[in-house]
Amino acid sequence: MSSELRRPPGTFDVLPTDSAAWEGLLVCFARTVESAGYGLILTPTFEDLAVFQRVGEATDIVRKEMYDFEDKGGRHVALRPEMTASVVRAFIEHHPPVPWKSWSAGSNFRFERPQAGRYREFHQLDIEAIGSADPDLDVEVIALGLEFYAAAGVTRVELLLNSLGDSTCRPAYRELLLAYLEEHRSGLCEDHRARLEDNPLRVLDCKKPACQKVVKGAPRQLDHLCEPCAAHFARVRAGLEALGIDYTIDTRLVRGLDYYTRTTFEYAGLALESAQNAVGGGGRYDGLVASMGGPDTPAIGFALGVERTLLAVEAEGGTARLTGGRGLDVFVVDFAGGDAGRDLTAALRGAGLRADRAYDGRSPKAQFRLADRSGARLALVVGPDEAAAGTVGVKDLLGDAEQVTVDRDEVVAEVRRRLGPPVRTGSS
Ligand code: ATP
Ligand code: MG
Repeated sequence: MSSELRRPPGTFDVLPTDSAAWEGLLVCFARTVESAGYGLILTPTFEDLAVFQRVGEATDIVRKEMYDFEDKGGRHVALRPEMTASVVRAFIEHHPPVPWKSWSAGSNFRFERPQAGRYREFHQLDIEAIGSADPDLDVEVIALGLEFYAAAGVTRVELLLNSLGDSTCRPAYRELLLAYLEEHRSGLCEDHRARLEDNPLRVLDCKKPACQKVVKGAPRQLDHLCEPCAAHFARVRAGLEALGIDYTIDTRLVRGLDYYTRTTFEYAGLALESAQNAVGGGGRYDGLVASMGGPDTPAIGFALGVERTLLAVEAEGGTARLTGGRGLDVFVVDFAGGDAGRDLTAALRGAGLRADRAYDGRSPKAQFRLADRSGARLALVVGPDEAAAGTVGVKDLLGDAEQVTVDRDEVVAEVRRRLGPPVRTGSS
């Protein structure tokens, strides 16, 4: 295959049955957040470039990593690098009543150097709660993320927590930080030495050792919160403690986009390599709706990385939990040469069972091989004897119990009896 017909670097295909874990994760997420009143929202995968420029002109995500281009109508558009901007754009466009709670799942695009847990097209699970500044809502959002990880089988998650202040206390802190960093300018990494004034806060989470060393002695936003921000943060901490949720204060946690205010948080998957162990993160963005032209509206949300979450699930050995109950129930093996393959399969599917069959009149041996490979729990066998007698052979494909014969009319009931109650993915 020529190289232009292969998938682009930093992208991947998810094939059956690897996709079962994806499906399980999605179901698990939907169930978790819908139980708290979040409804599914769908927005376009691309938007006018301006939508994303508003959320972070001084950030790498917007400056360096965005897939933007002029379309055939001459519009400058961009593939979304994150979800929040689109959800906020939709909120402003449709002005639903607040509080407005939505969830979404989909692709994001960033031109990054591909490596384990870092791709150019990746997927996020996201919630956004728009229209309330109540710190109890911060607790709800943070706790939902953890509840989802637990349901998905990721147990080793560290919650990192910080407050970035608001438009009252942040500007003064920014000046204080800038003055400190200017004093230590020669010690910063090259990039930040050159572009310090654009966004001094970004230096705080720069991963280069030079910056990290300078940052150790830098003033911390947490020590410079205004009274309302300090009270808000105290209430968030008290709420987490009331729920028995452990957290680590990380004063360097500023996150990748400009729009965050007050509470910011990140979930670190401790089973993963530290460079790519952020399995998700989020925070308040009380100024974003207004800055995008909407009414002054506080909001909070998070975005979780699907690929990294699945890597964490795998690292903790929990994949089976996500894929459980997702395979076929039965596989029909028909070598009588009549209509049983067609009609029995249709009847099983009609009864709500997950059924597949062989085609092309294959040999019994080949059909049994397919049945084994299909992952089905049971094979239903119709040979010449069964066809003549109006019966079906029922064989357990997982154990080694003998094949038993049942009447054609009894077969659905027999299959149901053998399968037991349905398995619900992601429930504990
Ligand atoms: P990092 O610091 O690892 O680059 P980020 O701060 O850029 O992460 P966010 O913008 O907060 O990430 O996105 C939320 C989540 O999406 C991350 O915690 C991570 O799980 C996932 N994510 C971000 N970028 C990528 C990527 N290029 N490939 C895969 N997952 C990603
Ligand atoms: Mg990043």
